[in-house]
Amino acid sequence: MGLDDDSREYHRRDPPGKIEIATTKPTNTQRDLSLAYSPGVAAPCRDIDEDEDAAYEYTAKGNLVGVVSNGTAVLGLGDIGSQASKPVMEGKGVLFKRFADIDVFDVELDITDVDDFVAATKAMEPTFGGINLEDIKAPECFEIERQLRETMDIPVFHDDQHGTAIISGAALLNAADVLGKDLEDLEIVFSGAGASALATARFYVSLGAKKENITMCDSSGIITESRVSAGDVNKYKAEFAQDVEEGSLAHAMEGADVFAGLSVGGIVSQDMVRSMADNPIIFAMANPDPEITYEDAKNARDDTVIMATGRSDYPNQVNNVLGFPFIFRGALDVRATEINEAMKRAAAEALAELARQDVPDAVVKAYGDHPLQFGPDYLIPKPLDPRVLFEVAPAVAQAAMTSGAARERLDMNEYRERLEA
Ligand code: NAP
Ligand code: MG
Repeated sequence: MGLDDDSREYHRRDPPGKIEIATTKPTNTQRDLSLAYSPGVAAPCRDIDEDEDAAYEYTAKGNLVGVVSNGTAVLGLGDIGSQASKPVMEGKGVLFKRFADIDVFDVELDITDVDDFVAATKAMEPTFGGINLEDIKAPECFEIERQLRETMDIPVFHDDQHGTAIISGAALLNAADVLGKDLEDLEIVFSGAGASALATARFYVSLGAKKENITMCDSSGIITESRVSAGDVNKYKAEFAQDVEEGSLAHAMEGADVFAGLSVGGIVSQDMVRSMADNPIIFAMANPDPEITYEDAKNARDDTVIMATGRSDYPNQVNNVLGFPFIFRGALDVRATEINEAMKRAAAEALAELARQDVPDAVVKAYGDHPLQFGPDYLIPKPLDPRVLFEVAPAVAQAAMTSGAARERLDMNEYRERLEA
């Protein structure tokens, strides 16, 4: 049986789907039930009515994330609608639980209108400690996230944008480190100007890259001021427009230090790689097929080519699961009001720092016994490395406290011990 049939069987096996609700308190006696529900339940209700933050003490809110989607940009599948997206959203819940013990309600909304989607999500604020927006198409996703961040007092995080930005940002920090280059000197070319590319470009600037050194291309080539004037690009792409001649991706890549691909597979040739600066950094992150294959990029030239892709069968997999479970873990544990830029940077830096440490034998074994040592082929940690939780969650929690996003202060030593227990 192939993967498709195996997956159908996996999902169909009784009970259908991948998640269920479990109760966490005793329910054996009449007394238990009158505590869980009426009349006893009135006491915590009254306390929360007095002080809303008490919801974090009396309910599951503080460990519950809403994975909210309308199914308009589902990985590899496109606009398949909300019902068909449910297996993906349940799957996201599985990853939250498996990697950070966070509970998820997957919420598939049959809504494409931005204002209606915002209103529906905003109305769910009492239920959740955080909202992970998922697989919502650009450019609507930008406006939805902006409005929700502005109006909600819990973290709102569109993983397809920021997850990629943070993980590839960690890889960029280490690639630059390995090559002895400074982020502010890097000439960076983006292929793609959609949800993930725009967020990633913004985040690279937040990490120290210079905006004027970023050239962004969409399916029509370089995004230029002239195309903005011609009304050819939306306002989000216009943020990265350069005052240069119009041209192709191939033209943009000449002399570039970094290629960041968040577009479609197979559009970069070996000649384009050869036209780049010495020791180029190539993050070909289109899924499932990268803009150029690992082999073609590596073999295109004799100097060091640093290569990352979205694939698990090659080194340096930019995999969002390295981010969202641990970022939300840290955010929830300080009852954060948002996931801000400082928290995202802290996550990227923690991932980058962890990759520079020796890798435990158990992790090496879990990845087929290939040596994992900091360098061009190991720039970011592996998702099954348990240390990712112990490093990223505290870094994010600490950044939340420092930046004023935390409702609750934690003793970091105690917190680390709690995570490691
Ligand atoms: P998106 O919002 O739909 O953006 C896609 C972008 O690619 C658009 O700007 C589009 O140009 C551009 N594009 C399409 N065909 C092109 C071509 N032939 N040449 C150059 N550019 C082209 O999608 P997204 O969510 O950002 O995802 C983009 C890609 O990144 C997908 O392959 C996705 O799987 C991958 N991705 C990977 C990771 C990861 O590795 N962790 C994470 C997120 C996304 P127009 O604007 O002109 O249409
Ligand atoms: Mg996604």
